Amino acid sequence: MEGFDTYDDLLDVVASSGKETRTLGYAPGGRPIVAVRMGGNKQPAVLITAGAHATEHAGVCAAVELIESLETDHEVWIIPTRDPVGVDGFDAALSLSFDHTEAVGTADEAKAVLATEGDVIHETHDLTVGLIGDYAYAVSPLEDGGGVSILQRFKEYTETNPAVLDQLAGRRVFTTAGDDAIDAADPFERTYTLIVDPSGLPLHLNRFFTNEWAPPETRAVRRLMVEIEPGLTFDNHETSGHEDRFHVSLRPQRTAAGDDREKQVGVAISSAVEDRGSELATDEDVLATPTSTVAEADDDERPEDGFYSRAGPGAYWVDPNLTDPPRLGEGLNATDYAAEQYGLAFTLETGMYGSLARRVNDAITSVQAGVAEFETLY
Ligand SMILES: [Zn+2]
Repeated sequence: MEGFDTYDDLLDVVASSGKETRTLGYAPGGRPIVAVRMGGNKQPAVLITAGAHATEHAGVCAAVELIESLETDHEVWIIPTRDPVGVDGFDAALSLSFDHTEAVGTADEAKAVLATEGDVIHETHDLTVGLIGDYAYAVSPLEDGGGVSILQRFKEYTETNPAVLDQLAGRRVFTTAGDDAIDAADPFERTYTLIVDPSGLPLHLNRFFTNEWAPPETRAVRRLMVEIEPGLTFDNHETSGHEDRFHVSLRPQRTAAGDDREKQVGVAISSAVEDRGSELATDEDVLATPTSTVAEADDDERPEDGFYSRAGPGAYWVDPNLTDPPRLGEGLNATDYAAEQYGLAFTLETGMYGSLARRVNDAITSVQAGVAEFETLY
C-alpha cells in the first residue's frame, strides 16, 4: 500500500468510485474540499472525516478505501481530507506564494528558498521561519528528531517572541512537520498547516469548531455537520505518542443513556482492532499524550479530574472541558463538536510508526466495527 502523491490523485480515486460528491468549500490554491455521499437514507447519518493533520496520512487512505467498502443503510458522508494543501506537501505550499518549480528535499534547501524568495523573520539552528507573499513557512533540520518536534519549536518560539504572533495574525504557517520514520508522511511529502487566528493564537486545523472566526477547511466541515446532524462521527487521526499501538477516544454525551451507547460502540471499535491482530495502546501510552497546543496554565487553575479516563481496553474518554492546561480559546475539535451537538463521536488514533497498511487497516476496521455496533442501536 502507498499513500497519495497528490491531492489530484486522491480526487481521481474518489471520482472513479462513481459516488455522488459535493464540494463543501475551497482550500488555498482552489483545491476543493470534497464530501462523498454514500449509504442509504436511514437516520441518523454517519460522518467520517480525515486528514485535518496532513502528516497523519493513514486515516486519509482509510477514508478513501471506505468509499468502496463501507456498507450500511444509514446515510453516510465521507470527507477524505480536511487539508488538501497538506496532502500535496511543502513544495505545493511554496507554490502558493511564487512560481516555484524546483523540488525541495532538505531543510537547507528549504531555508535557501525562504532566504531568496522571501523574508526570514527568525533563524536559529532548530527553527527557521520565513514569509513569502501572504504565507509563512517554518523549517526545522531533520537530524534533530524529525519534523514532529517543529510544532513544539514553533510554540516555544512564539511564546518567547509574542510580538511575532501579531505579525502572523490571520496567516497560515506551513511547516515541514513530518518524520523520516513515518511511512507515507516524509518531511517534504506532506506539510502541516498551522493557522494563527486573528487574535494571534496559533492553531491547527482540528480546532476552531466553536470559534467565531474559522478557516474555510473548518467551516466546510462544520456546515455539513449542521446540515446532516450526524448521529455517529469518526475523525481519523494518528499519534506519534505510542509507536504502532491503537486507541480510540470517546466523548461525553448529552445524556447518561448516550454515554452508555458511546461506551458500547467505543469498546466495540477497540475490540475489533485487537481481534484483527493489532496491539492496543496502554494506559501509560495514552495518559502521556499531550492534550493541548497552547500556553501553560498556572498549577492552581488545573482541573482536578483528568482529561483522559479509561472506558475499556484501548478506549478512553476525553472530556474537552477538562484539558490540562486549558485550551484558552482554541475552540472544540470535530469530535468534541459532534458529541456536544449531535451524537456519538470518536477520534481514531493509530500509532504512526506502524506500516501504512497496518494503520490503514486499523482505521478501516474501526469504522466498520463502529458502524456495525451503531446499527444495533437503531
Ligand atoms: Zn491528528
